[in-house]
Formats: sequence, structure tokens, C-alpha cells
Amino acid sequence: MEQKIAIVTGGSSGLGYAIAKKFTANNIYTFIIGRDKANLDNACKEFGANCEAIVFDLTNLKGIPELVNNIVSKKGRIDILVNNAGINMKKNLVEVTDEDFQRILFTNVNSVFSLSREVAKVMIAQKSGSVVNISSMASQYGIPQVIAYSASKSAIEGMTRAMAVDLSPLGIRVNCIAPGFIFTRMSSAALDNDPARKQKVLSRTPMGKLGMPEDIANAAYYLSSDEASYLTGTVVPVDGGNSIGF
Ligand code: NDP
Repeated sequence: MEQKIAIVTGGSSGLGYAIAKKFTANNIYTFIIGRDKANLDNACKEFGANCEAIVFDLTNLKGIPELVNNIVSKKGRIDILVNNAGINMKKNLVEVTDEDFQRILFTNVNSVFSLSREVAKVMIAQKSGSVVNISSMASQYGIPQVIAYSASKSAIEGMTRAMAVDLSPLGIRVNCIAPGFIFTRMSSAALDNDPARKQKVLSRTPMGKLGMPEDIANAAYYLSSDEASYLTGTVVPVDGGNSIGF
């Protein structure tokens, strides 16, 4: 069987790192994208020959068609896109500037739209492909001090459904993972600085623990695989039961 080709944005740390690790270990050739060359190179060194690093700032929307063309000219196809890269910022509503709001929306939404559109052109020509977007439980639940982030993650879930409706008839599936609190740089820094909040989060999570990046990687691997061939337009919570309430 031909080796699958994947793109994982933000594949050098946190959830993206775990996803790229899972993909490369399962013989998926994976392009990881981020801004920090040293982090990307270190990750690829660990993942071995199935990994290739691309230093690229995803907010450079004008550069995205060339980024995608370069990947296609190297490998001929793109089977999987994982839109994982994202940023957050904790500020009270009244302290969030227009620039803050725009910066988060631009990174978390505009870049996902532009990259998905360019990759979709390739997948449409192939008549196959799978896109996995990473949102957050902040898309549906009020979480303090993350207004722009919440807006961006709700947009990701809306885009997932809209993309799925447009692309599924063309052989391309689009799904989304909504992680709960997962133990990474982004979440652990926030929770470690606030033990009371950490306790609150744990007490609201029926499984009583934070998730691990591997939990998200396993879900992303499944959703992007042929095993999930009748799944499209879904948002899968991977959150230890946080979203079911208890
Ligand atoms: P990290 O901060 O560990 O990783 C974010 C990644 O995104 C980095 O690899 C970073 O690479 C990349 N990135 C950020 N901005 C850009 C940019 N402009 N261009 C290219 N790459 C960029 O975060 P997490 O792993 O925790 O989060 C990953 C995703 O999961 C995010 O979308 C986040 O919202 C979501 N999520 C995380 C949760 C958690 O508990 N950790 C919970 C719910 C959702 P570089 O710095 O090299 O640019």
C-alpha cells in the first residue's frame, strides 16, 4: 500500500508532537509545521525518516499556496491534514485589546481556513483525504478569561461541519477533536499557577485526571484513518467525560 502523507501543524510540541509521533510510528510520512526551527528539528530527529520539518508562520496566509505546492511537488499527494496549531491568552474581557482578539482569531481560524482550502484542492483532485481539526471544550463551555480563544474554537467547529458538507461528496472527510484539559505546555502552565483552579478542573472531570497528549493522538490517528471511513462532520470530545456533566 502507498505510504500516506500527512501535514500536522504545530507538530513540534504538545498535542501536535504526540500526533506526529503516532503518525510517523505508523508509517505515515508527516510534515510538521511550526515557527521554531530548533524545536521542529529536534522533533523530527526523534521521529526518524518519516518526518520532515517545515519552518513556516501560518499567519503568513499569502505563503500558504506555495507551502502546499512544495509538499505536493515533493510527495505527490496529501492524505491527511491535522489543523492543530493554536495560541491562547488569559485576560479578562475588558483587558483584551482589538489586536489581541485579532491575533488569536488570525492564528486559530484564518490560517486553518486558508491551509484547509489549499489542501482541499489537492485532496479534491485525488478524490480522497481526511482533515482533522483541533478545537477545545472552550468552544461550548464558559471558561474564564479566554474570550478570543473560545470564539476561535467555536469557529473551528462550525468550519468543520461546513467543510464536511462541502467536501464529503468529493471523497474527503472532515472531523474535529475537542480536547478537555490535556497535560501540555499550554494547559499545565495555566493550571500549575493556579492550584485551586486545577482542583476545580479535576473535580469536574468524571475521570478525575487530566488527559495526556497521546489520548488526542490516538483519536486523531483513528479519525484520519480508513477505519473511520463513515465518520464526517463530527466533533469528538476527548475530555475524560468533562462535557457530559455530572
Ligand atoms: P502548544 O503551545 O504546546 O503547541 C502549539 C503549537 O502550535 C506549537 O508547536 C507552535 O509551534 C504552533 N504554532 C503556534 N502558532 C503558530 C504559527 N503562527 N505558525 C505555525 N505554528 C504555530 O499547545 P498545545 O499542544 O497545548 O495545543 C495544541 C492545540 O490543541 C491548540 O490548537 C490548542 O488550542 C488545542 N487544545 C489544547 C488543550 C490543552 O489542554 N493543551 C486543550 C484544548 C485544546 P511554534 O511555537 O514553533 O510556532
